[in-house]
Amino acid sequence: MENGRVYRGSCHCGAVAFEVTGRLEMIDECNCSICTKKGYLHWIVPRASFRLLTSQEDMATYSFNTGVARHYFCQRCGIAPFYVPRSDPDKIDVNVRCLEGIEPGAIALKKFDGRNWEAAFRAHRGIEPSRPPHGGGKD
Ligand SMILES: [Zn+2]
Repeated sequence: MENGRVYRGSCHCGAVAFEVTGRLEMIDECNCSICTKKGYLHWIVPRASFRLLTSQEDMATYSFNTGVARHYFCQRCGIAPFYVPRSDPDKIDVNVRCLEGIEPGAIALKKFDGRNWEAAFRAHRGIEPSRPPHGGGKD
């Protein structure tokens, strides 16, 4: 199986920069409180596919609600180019808007109903409604 290509991303000022190896074929758009306000477009990738090129110390972290998600943002310019999502805390959620040379409108978009997080998470994972979800979600 092919690994795809290398995408480069960054915050606005460049203090936070990273590379992702993969194939960007689907973007998730979430309607929860924070994603709506940020305009975040999600691409969730394995940690092994993600490489931070700058210092972790240039990022601040915001957490709320369950505290599982770790919303990183640049301390200098405030842009949030990636984070650890509640739905997949073992992965990295890349903000497609922060990738270089990507036109988000040209990529398939899938809606995630983050306002009804538990139900949306079960659908996301293909879990039967009767079984409780484990792990976290997008928020
Ligand atoms: Zn910045």
